[in-house]
Amino acid sequence: MITVLFGPPGSGKGTQAARLVEKLGAVHLSTGDMLRAELKSGSELGMKAKSIMEAGDLVPDELVTEIVATQLGNGTPETSYILDGFPRTLGQAKSLDDILAELGLAVDKAILIHIDDEIVVGRITGRFSCGQCGEGYHDVSKKPAVDGVCDKCGASDFQRRDDDKEEKIRNRLDAYHDQTEPVLPHYQAKGLLVKVDGYRSMDVVTQELEDLLSANGN
Ligand code: AMP
Repeated sequence: MITVLFGPPGSGKGTQAARLVEKLGAVHLSTGDMLRAELKSGSELGMKAKSIMEAGDLVPDELVTEIVATQLGNGTPETSYILDGFPRTLGQAKSLDDILAELGLAVDKAILIHIDDEIVVGRITGRFSCGQCGEGYHDVSKKPAVDGVCDKCGASDFQRRDDDKEEKIRNRLDAYHDQTEPVLPHYQAKGLLVKVDGYRSMDVVTQELEDLLSANGN
């Protein structure tokens, strides 16, 4: 089963995708995570993407499409995937259809986690994570129990993403509205799009997503 997860930055789609893969035994494909890994490793692709990502713009379609195609090609026809952050343009959506068709597969469900821009800005500017285990925190809504110490692994090495500053978030929101929202009708026309309200707690949203995906035999 192939599920694509849409939502503006800060809608919680990364967290939800991580929870769903655990609960449903699917593979999480996050193009943002894959690009950050390329950047960290200093690869040629990472170097090409660096300044674009730092500005909050979208990396060219062919770069991201290539890494997604490689990952999908490594699976079996039975592998379930949750795609998080891809496709982000109409061109990527069409390439995804082609890549999957070659593998005898197709997108089964597209889920949009909807949330307004101002809520997004508040959510993202406060977020940080443990540099050791990746556990996510927030200045207001999820502080570590002991200030400066990760609840999960005890490390004191917290980090904030460079692109989580307000000006860059606004740029990422513009990219979302201008380039990613126009992808939604592609899935709506196929009857695959479901809209989920992202204002509620993470747990409530996870439950709704789980119900939606389980209902489809995942
Ligand atoms: P994310 O972690 O999904 O918010 O992605 C972080 C950044 O990586 C984005 O702001 C883009 O610069 C880049 N990126 C991630 N996925 C894509 C994609 N599918 N197409 C283009 N750029 C992407």
